[in-house]
Amino acid sequence: MELESLNSLSAALGADSSLIQGAGGNLSFKSGDRLIIKASGTSMSQAKEKNIFTEVKISEILGSLEAGNDNLPPDPLTGHKPSIETLLHVVMPHPLVVHLHMLSAIIFAAMANGAEIIGQKLNGLNFAFLDYHRPGLPLALAARDAIKNFKSPPDILILKKHGLVLGANSRDELILLLNDCIRRLDLPPRAMQQPRIDRLLPKNDLDWLIDSDPLPHNVALDKTALNLAKSAPLYPDHLVFLGPVMLILGPSKPLALSVLDHTIRHGHQPKVAIIPEAGVLISPDASFGAVAMLKALALTGLRAPESVPIGGFEGLDANQCRELMNFNAESHRLKMDAY
Ligand SMILES: [Zn+2]
Repeated sequence: MELESLNSLSAALGADSSLIQGAGGNLSFKSGDRLIIKASGTSMSQAKEKNIFTEVKISEILGSLEAGNDNLPPDPLTGHKPSIETLLHVVMPHPLVVHLHMLSAIIFAAMANGAEIIGQKLNGLNFAFLDYHRPGLPLALAARDAIKNFKSPPDILILKKHGLVLGANSRDELILLLNDCIRRLDLPPRAMQQPRIDRLLPKNDLDWLIDSDPLPHNVALDKTALNLAKSAPLYPDHLVFLGPVMLILGPSKPLALSVLDHTIRHGHQPKVAIIPEAGVLISPDASFGAVAMLKALALTGLRAPESVPIGGFEGLDANQCRELMNFNAESHRLKMDAY
């Protein structure tokens, strides 16, 4: 496969925010012992504008997997560090592998009977359902063990509290498989609402930003989206870029005091404030990744079925959050996000 073709596939997938948000997801292509894979912290959507890929040797990555090491060195020439999920891409035997944060798959998998629902929806396809494992080495090892149980390697891995992985022999095969998954796991979003600027302004004593795009405000406007914002993060990128707990303003407290309280109580400074039935205020310090994940939370919330009760979505628990916050590969992505 030509790099140009890989770039256009990456850009097309990256442009769909129901599949990829911010610098999430990754794409790879194998040729002999070469693996061309997205570099950590780069955006799939930008593949046509800049070089987002890096190259590694499959034999070396398999050696890292055996040695239990997922801290892969950067390319000495470009400084590009291979994606956190490089080990996972090598474990999938297919020439072309993509990992997506497909929101509908994340929502279904987070429901109490998620494995059963997904089993029915993907019936007839060669897929495996994996419980949550930390990105990097633990996820790659779990995927390798799951794949061993299949006569022919699964083309789809559903990753609980994370997303999915697809493997294919060619670009056309991958697109067909992806479209089939999108159709089967379809969750149409509810209509977006407009923010109530008149209710946001009196709260905004820090002069935070009010996004002109109505999408992020729907975290505060849609009842199910707001419930989801109150729950634990549904997947690692949410935690990494927005922190473990979202700031939701009560009716009487202004922003400055609420930010201070939240920082003391939860140990992280919020970059976003949610004002129920009004909209959101965004800190001028919020990174590209934080705003992308806020929009992803709105998109997820608008798709989440209203029938699921409060607390009915299983997010990352306290131990899983702690493990991720201490994972040094995630600090590399945060550093990249700051530029
Ligand atoms: Zn991921």
